[in-house]
Amino acid sequence: MIGIQQLPLTGKHSIPFHTPVSVTRCQYKPIIKPEFITKNKDRFWSSSTGPVRAGWFLGLGEKKKVTDLPEIVQAGDPVLNEPARDVRPDEIGSERVQKIIDDMVKVMRGAPGVGLAAPQIGIPLKIIVLEDTEEYIGYAPKEEIKAQDRRSFDLLVIINPNLQKKGNKSALFFEGCLSVDGYRAMVERFLDVEVTGLDRYGQPIKVSASGWQARILQHECDHLAGTLYVDKMVKRTFRTVENLQLPLANGCPKPGVR
Ligand SMILES: [Zn+2]
Repeated sequence: MIGIQQLPLTGKHSIPFHTPVSVTRCQYKPIIKPEFITKNKDRFWSSSTGPVRAGWFLGLGEKKKVTDLPEIVQAGDPVLNEPARDVRPDEIGSERVQKIIDDMVKVMRGAPGVGLAAPQIGIPLKIIVLEDTEEYIGYAPKEEIKAQDRRSFDLLVIINPNLQKKGNKSALFFEGCLSVDGYRAMVERFLDVEVTGLDRYGQPIKVSASGWQARILQHECDHLAGTLYVDKMVKRTFRTVENLQLPLANGCPKPGVR
């Protein structure tokens, strides 16, 4: 945690210090490499609750600083609540923007997480990165993978993304965010979306996604508008990661596709 005396006066231009994101649903298993768990056992196990359930982005609690990579900014920093700005075409090839992208990929993979938006490392620019791997998915229960329509996809870097929903179907699942470390809530998302934007070389790209990838895209694009999942969650489902397995309160909607 960053002490109060270390908080930047304005989060907007602050270079983050260290930390991570994530989306999940009930009965999640950790998306973590086994050797990482072994090395960091204390972080994943508590005396009574067994392994801490994690998800899309993984909040690991106390972080140790192993590199000079930026930290993931935590809720409360205004950079997470304010719209990011477009990257100008002439900026895309710059050393600065290319380094921001490289840092984002490293921070996302280090978390580990499946998506990251530039404001999460303190940079108010419209850049997102996302990736989901067979390995990560392998740690989730099969029925959950199926329900979430979760399939692996290669690394995507999208600059100035523009997201549009396709169709009217939506899905309600638990998700979390490395910038709201340690918590989860159910969020309704469109089932199918299309995102247009530029790749890291400034070339136009179009991504059609459904299921879990569509959720990740919506979550990350929301970050660029200064919106966190807690702004959209079904409030009464909000809970700590440790309580993810507890039943939903009476009257809460059931997870699934609608
Ligand atoms: Zn997030």
